[in-house]
Amino acid sequence: MPMNILVSACLLGLACRYDGSAKEYPAVLALAENHTLIPFCPEIYGGLSTPREPCEIIDGRVRSQSGVDVTPQFEKGAQEALRLAAALQCKCALLQDRSPSCGVGIIHDGTFTGGLVQGDGLTARLLMENNLRVLPATRAAELAKCQCPSNCRRHGDCIACREHHRDGAPSYCQR
Ligand code: SF4
Repeated sequence: MPMNILVSACLLGLACRYDGSAKEYPAVLALAENHTLIPFCPEIYGGLSTPREPCEIIDGRVRSQSGVDVTPQFEKGAQEALRLAAALQCKCALLQDRSPSCGVGIIHDGTFTGGLVQGDGLTARLLMENNLRVLPATRAAELAKCQCPSNCRRHGDCIACREHHRDGAPSYCQR
């Protein structure tokens, strides 16, 4: 069943990254064949320009490389992402790796040296707290496999569907 998926805009080829580049991800673009992809860049919607300074999370605050605290802009972008997801009934989001907004599970470590730590970007975290299924782009293929016709909260997650249906995996589940 087609679903609306909120997607980091840079993954679809929009040049909205801090350095004015895009990071097109073919496995994400391929999902457009069966689903509606909704591009969104929380940093732009939070009021930041492109290009902009790189930013990382340091002690719970988001700071630019020169030390400016941009946490309010990142929080605003996260709220706007949540608003859009609710308005368009998105139950899942596919987000760019490592970003202080979009990172899922792993983000830059705040040293601006390319180091990584466990953690989530502000937008990813807010969407998860509001029960969206949030995946990094590297897991886009999981959504391509899903043929779940139900519209449950974990739509797109066949393992969760198995639990949801309780009687075992439905016949259309490919996992
Ligand atoms: Fe891409 Fe997210 Fe960064 Fe925007 S905030 S450029 S969508 S990773």
